[in-house]
Amino acid sequence: MGFQSLKEKIKHGINKTWTTIKEIGLKVKSGVVSAVKWTVDAGTRIVDYVKERTQAWNARLEEHKKEIAGRIEQEKYKGKVIERPQHRPEKAEIAQAQNCANLLRQCFPNGIAESMRHKTLEEREDAIMEFAQKGAKVFNVPISNVRVENIHAAVFGYYERNTNSLRINKLFLKEELGAEEQIYTVIHELTHAQQWHAVSTENAHGYSNSLLNEWSYNFEHYIPIAEGDEFYRKQPVEEAAFWMEQESKKLYNK
Ligand SMILES: [Zn+2]
Repeated sequence: MGFQSLKEKIKHGINKTWTTIKEIGLKVKSGVVSAVKWTVDAGTRIVDYVKERTQAWNARLEEHKKEIAGRIEQEKYKGKVIERPQHRPEKAEIAQAQNCANLLRQCFPNGIAESMRHKTLEEREDAIMEFAQKGAKVFNVPISNVRVENIHAAVFGYYERNTNSLRINKLFLKEELGAEEQIYTVIHELTHAQQWHAVSTENAHGYSNSLLNEWSYNFEHYIPIAEGDEFYRKQPVEEAAFWMEQESKKLYNK
């Protein structure tokens, strides 16, 4: 199947509700937001949440897991450590990360946490919204809406494909470190928005056909966190989104 027809297929054939979720388990593991309190049942809630969304593609999932598992095995064989994604960014991704870092500098010249420290909860909410609106321009994606609201306690945020919207969890804004993390969540979710825009419209955003094909395939065979941290994180769309937030952070803090 040619790339154009694959694009057409995805554009017209899929109207399923679909989200990419940045899950708190990953962050607790890396100790980034240890200050954020979360409840024991949070794990159960996220599992229930993604289970609903998993049912439709369970059969395809097994097939995709085998493919990802093969890739993980290969890396183990090469002796690589899999703690962090071994993402090899394309030029367009490197340029995008630089643009994100520039926006971070423009919005938070004295550091994100420092800026958040002096803000009320409502002001933090406004800062997230403003950053998301500016970020959408930097990613060159037409986001229909951004909402900062209380969602599942185990979720930082998500991009919803069928409404082309961003949801950022307000629960984390109570702590300044959580508020800082949510700025990076915006970058993560905007990366998904751009990925989807690149595979479903004529604007490829500078990405290669092979990368777009990989993302298209992954969007159709998305692995939720409930299937395991390693599988979730190693899938192409997540690997790229985690890379984008980490790289932006690195360049911003330089
Ligand atoms: Zn994600």
